[in-house]
Amino acid sequence: MEFLRPTSVQEAVEALAVRQGRARILAGGTDLVVRLKDGLETARSLIGLGRCVELRGVREESGQIVIGAMTTHEELARSMFLRRVAPVLAEAAEEVGSVQIRQRGTIGGNVVNASPSADLVPPLHVLGATVVLVSRAGVRPLGIEEFATGPKQTRIRPEELLVELRFPRPREDELQRYFKLGQRRALACAKVSLAFRARSTAGVLRDVRIACGAVAPTVVRAREAERALEGTLPTADAIRRACAALARDIRPIDDVRSTAAWRLAACAELLRRAVPELV
Ligand SMILES: Cc1cc2nc3c(=O)[nH]c(=O)nc-3n(C[C@H](O)[C@H](O)[C@H](O)COP(=O)(O)OP(=O)(O)OC[C@H]3O[C@@H](n4cnc5c(N)ncnc54)[C@H](O)[C@@H]3O)c2cc1C
Repeated sequence: MEFLRPTSVQEAVEALAVRQGRARILAGGTDLVVRLKDGLETARSLIGLGRCVELRGVREESGQIVIGAMTTHEELARSMFLRRVAPVLAEAAEEVGSVQIRQRGTIGGNVVNASPSADLVPPLHVLGATVVLVSRAGVRPLGIEEFATGPKQTRIRPEELLVELRFPRPREDELQRYFKLGQRRALACAKVSLAFRARSTAGVLRDVRIACGAVAPTVVRAREAERALEGTLPTADAIRRACAALARDIRPIDDVRSTAAWRLAACAELLRRAVPELV
């Protein structure tokens, strides 16, 4: 197998273009290497991004928060800047796997892997993130909600590299929270997860954003539940209505990790926990 180690985005994009879909990108390898070893995937060429320093780090650019695709979960969890501007994403990064997985696994790999239980994706949905893809043909930005089409299925093209995630800098008066329920506290994929973002003006909920993981073929925005809460006082009644609306947003299934009925009840419980924190 051929193994390439480009030192820039331009080199990586050239390597992808020349191999016309026969090369795979290797970021932290925590998903891809496991799948290659298990024979679930094959690759003639691997393009390792470890030397592309321009793909690392969190920065602000003209009111946008920009996160390089090779930024690891550990870097996100430890970033004081991210904790201040987008705590929902830092909290989610802290929930990934174990220390070892967090030190190798990257935000780009988490997004391209397109697991419905990927921890960073619900926060990216509520933050309104854009996935920035680059190829020889140029830059192609895609909204995070358009990116994944099913488990391990995305709209990325074989010749494209995910270079960064971007989202508008959130307001400072927001509440943002990420909740995850798994088999245990560490080294467990989410059975259900929920990212919540809103603010309260004189007690009334505004700009409510909710996204749920592991309850549909892709991470989903819970727009019915958002509508049920928007402009309301977060009373027990309003929260009950939002939890009922959530059942129309999600499509949980029975699988090895859990049952559809439990997932629905657990997802509503996470929402019930999130809203009162705002009051
Ligand atoms: C033991 C264990 C525990 C785990 N626990 C969790 C968990 O709790 N939560 C969770 O969300 N995930 C978990 N994972 C999954 C995994 O660690 C994460 O999804 C991680 O973020 C993947 O990133 P990576 O850099 O290792 O990706 P890689 O394995 O390198 O790549 C994954 C896929 O994305 C593609 N890719 C990567 N980067 C790019 C890019 N920049 N442009 C284009 N394509 C790209 C690769 O070609 C590959 O198809 C776990 C994995 C293991 C092995």
